Amino acid sequence: MKEAQIGVIGGSGLYAMDGLTVLFERTVPTPFGEPSDPFVIGEIDGVRVAFLSRHGRGHRLMPSEINNRANLFALKSLGVDTIVSVSAVGSMKEEYRPTDIVLTHQFIDRTRHRPDTFFGNGIVAHVSFADPICAAVSFGLSHAAREAKVKAHIGGVYLCMEGPQFSTRAESNLYRSWGVDVIGMTNLQEAKLAREAEICYATIAMITDYDCWRESDEAVNVQAILGYLQTNAETASTLIRQAIPSLAARKRECLCVNALQNAIITDRRIIPQQVKEDLAPIVGRYMEPEDISHLSQP
Ligand SMILES: [Zn+2]
Repeated sequence: MKEAQIGVIGGSGLYAMDGLTVLFERTVPTPFGEPSDPFVIGEIDGVRVAFLSRHGRGHRLMPSEINNRANLFALKSLGVDTIVSVSAVGSMKEEYRPTDIVLTHQFIDRTRHRPDTFFGNGIVAHVSFADPICAAVSFGLSHAAREAKVKAHIGGVYLCMEGPQFSTRAESNLYRSWGVDVIGMTNLQEAKLAREAEICYATIAMITDYDCWRESDEAVNVQAILGYLQTNAETASTLIRQAIPSLAARKRECLCVNALQNAIITDRRIIPQQVKEDLAPIVGRYMEPEDISHLSQP
């Protein structure tokens, strides 16, 4: 059942969404366990939105503890086809200042401990991930940023690190030499799983600090970062509210829509029945109807 079209994942500082008319909350069980929090289902300009606090309300979960598979599977189950994800990041460039927003377009993976695929256990799929962000959604956000007079940098490379500690100076300088624009701890796994689930996904990276590369600055200071989070949360809410009507109205013509079409390698006949049943919201359209018994039930 389609409970919501647009998913919003809020990161550090954004634990609830201003402007969302709340209708109800929904706890969504998944084959991958519990999502970070119950989903807040609401409306913005008549568009159904599912909001999730990534770290849980009260900020209970470290980046490495977030059950990304459960979060993304649940959003798919709710009927979400587009996700706007908000993430607090450090800047790796002088001109990307605290409280600026970056609409990132690429990722580099420096995580170590995280499940980041729905597949395995008898089903193998390789989706294209050359362009991990949905350009159509990111374009919609950039257009909304202009209209809402929010300062946004268009495009940027997001390095996703494991955390929870921040970088060493040597790491920070290394990442700068790689051309990284912002550094964060959460969005890459979400983007991978969204692609596997054929959901359009885009990141709003909100800058809180200059990481530790900037010699004139003190090393990353948690108190200073918290000071910027509130401003950033308000900016992100403004931007998302502005963007949602046009994101919801757009025709989905991007490659995300059929990302799995040629990606599932495994012979359908040997995929374990339980796996087909568990992954039905994601792979159901690529299986024979009789393969998935509960899809044919009323
Ligand atoms: Zn897309």
